[in-house]
Amino acid sequence: MNFRSFLGNETTARQLQEGAASGRLPHAILLSGPRGAGKYSLAIALAQTLNCLDPQTYNGLPDACDVCHNCTRIASALDLDVRVAEAVEAREDLRDADRKDTRILIQTHPDVLVVPPDPPQMLVKVGQVRSLIHNVQRAPSEGKRKLYIFPTAKFMSEAANSLLKVLEEPPEYTHLLLLAENPSDLLPTIRSRCSQMRLHAVPMDRLEEILAQHHREWPPARRTLVARLAEGAIGRAISFHPDTYLASRKDALLLLHTAIVEPDHSALFHVTETYRAGAEGQQKTQDLLRTLSLLLEDVMVLQAGRPEMVRNIDVLPELRRLAESVSFDWIERAVRRMVEVESGMRRNLLRSLSLDALTAGLQQR
Ligand SMILES: [Zn+2]
Repeated sequence: MNFRSFLGNETTARQLQEGAASGRLPHAILLSGPRGAGKYSLAIALAQTLNCLDPQTYNGLPDACDVCHNCTRIASALDLDVRVAEAVEAREDLRDADRKDTRILIQTHPDVLVVPPDPPQMLVKVGQVRSLIHNVQRAPSEGKRKLYIFPTAKFMSEAANSLLKVLEEPPEYTHLLLLAENPSDLLPTIRSRCSQMRLHAVPMDRLEEILAQHHREWPPARRTLVARLAEGAIGRAISFHPDTYLASRKDALLLLHTAIVEPDHSALFHVTETYRAGAEGQQKTQDLLRTLSLLLEDVMVLQAGRPEMVRNIDVLPELRRLAESVSFDWIERAVRRMVEVESGMRRNLLRSLSLDALTAGLQQR
């Protein structure tokens, strides 16, 4: 992930590149912006650029090569969800005593430390910040600059207080990048010690233009659908798999149709049968549940009289029919049941059975 491959929000990206070029990059940066705007990708691009072994230029400013030993190691932190899941799983396997003292930290390069919020509270904890304070004392070993990235800068209060000390006197070679959807997520004492930069959601028509360049084979209606589903997030839009989504949506609509309009269970059993045990079935069920939530959100948007906000725009008539047939209470119950199915999946209950049970449950108005 270098600046060359970062799309949208050109002004902020350039500001960071200029900071890297001049050597006057602030030591603490609060980078805010909506989910999917590219905050984390940009933080990684900066970390790579500052530590690249074979620096390139882009727009007349320094950029990472994205292939050297430093770049590739740093870039492997890009897949954050996977890295965090691995770290959490490794901690689960520890004995109780050790588990308590194990911090969730992602370090794919010795000079770049990613500090994600720690589940289940999803806040950065004081132990993580203490590890950072310990780490900050040592000068860079294989790169030139040390970077500390908080992908979701939400702190427990003790953690925030500990961090203040680092923010007050950061060593010359360090940069802290705090990423947040809203600057107000952070305490004023932290905010005031950071240089603030902002990313914006990419407008829908610009997103469609970018999709037209990246996916020439997609018909315009598909680009419109994907742009709406991606909600301003370029990365999500480009890497979107419409075929997987449409297959999942077909099943989700059948499930809703069976529950609400016409109880034809033979067709439904036929479908739920294909949701099997194992990793593949788990992924498929998760996709289905996510698609169901999106459809229900669209139904709610229609009920609220805001059809322009519907994302699954190509099935609008069907969504209208559903919106006319169910109450707000019903949707609330449906969402609750979906959460139950998800936790059942974690307990490894039979997926196809829980999907049938979900549909049966949804039939009760
Ligand atoms: Zn490089």
